[in-house]
Amino acid sequence: MDTHTSLAPIAFLDLKPQRARIETALRARLDAILASCQFVLGPDVTELEQRLAAFCGAKHCIAVSSGTDALQIALMAENIGRGDAVFLPAFTYTATAEVATVLGATPVFVDIDPTTFQIDIANLRARIIQVRDGGKLTPRAIMGVDLFGQPADWPAINALAAEFGMTTIDDAAQSFGASLGGKRLGTMATATATSFFPSKPLGAYGDGGALFTEDDERASLFRSLRTHGEGKQRYEVIRTGMNGRLDTIQAAVLLCKLDIFEADLASRARIADLYDSRLAGAVQIPARVPDSDSAWAIYSILLKSGESRDGLAASLREKGVPSAIYYPKPLHFQPAYASLHDGASLPVSEEIGNRILALPLYPDLSDADAHRVCDAVLSSV
Ligand SMILES: *Cc1c(COP(=O)(O)O)cnc(C)c1O
Repeated sequence: MDTHTSLAPIAFLDLKPQRARIETALRARLDAILASCQFVLGPDVTELEQRLAAFCGAKHCIAVSSGTDALQIALMAENIGRGDAVFLPAFTYTATAEVATVLGATPVFVDIDPTTFQIDIANLRARIIQVRDGGKLTPRAIMGVDLFGQPADWPAINALAAEFGMTTIDDAAQSFGASLGGKRLGTMATATATSFFPSKPLGAYGDGGALFTEDDERASLFRSLRTHGEGKQRYEVIRTGMNGRLDTIQAAVLLCKLDIFEADLASRARIADLYDSRLAGAVQIPARVPDSDSAWAIYSILLKSGESRDGLAASLREKGVPSAIYYPKPLHFQPAYASLHDGASLPVSEEIGNRILALPLYPDLSDADAHRVCDAVLSSV
């Protein structure tokens, strides 16, 4: 007899218990903002920039309006546009490719590793050489993505960028708080972009993002681009920028969440460990990137086939366990990008979308519910 059927369904993501943990501190900050009426780039934003930079050991942090805008500003600062090739994994969120496309550059899609889901370094090298020898596009940037919370292989990406005279941009939208070689993400690439979309490991209560860099010149360029390309004086416009500013209220939320972020990361890691230990053998669990700590934005398992994945998702749903698919289709197969793709086959990205399934993972998911997720998976595969 299934004793679980009477239990309420588990949420895929429930932010309410976390909100309760920060509520008193947040209300105090919100009251101060309402009193001051400094709603955009107010004092909380400056405080947030300092605390985020300290958190990840970066020299500069520039808070912006979203992760997408952070990525776009990073590319704009390099003057990347028409005729330029930007290398990025085919298996990522659309925003990574979108910013290159919006600026007129050509996204060059690269395959991923089938066990860690991170950009495949051998394929990256092959794609760079292919584009360089093709002579139509100038290889300009590698946008590594730290997918699902784990870091990409930054030493290898940076070595390739140096070899081929390119810059590196870290799309750490899912992975702020993760570390590689004992260092937090934020200093791995020339520029690091992260997102504070509510569902990310460090999420605001609306859109937000940040850029990190060690380079003084880029830092002031990012600040200028964030506010319409303004110069030293207000209303002096020295370049074409954008409205990429962060709201003060979002900064207040993030400051309160930063106070509990280490604890939340530990909770996420504990649940991932629990899933690993109970599910290994029954399904393919996500391989850990060596010498790293994941921010565990997403915990995805791999099934043998698309058929078993859909059956599993349905069976889980019956048991009150939700699941999600990141991502059903690689970017080079999406209508928005298909015409920009050079036709290269990217077999891992093309296959994994049919077999991948994400399980609930958030800091306030109880161990009892995590075990319930595992029970449901184990009785369904
Ligand atoms: C969420 C996400 C983004 C975009 O961040 P927004 O804040 O939603 O604009 C970019 N890249 C990746 C990999 C993401 O997951």
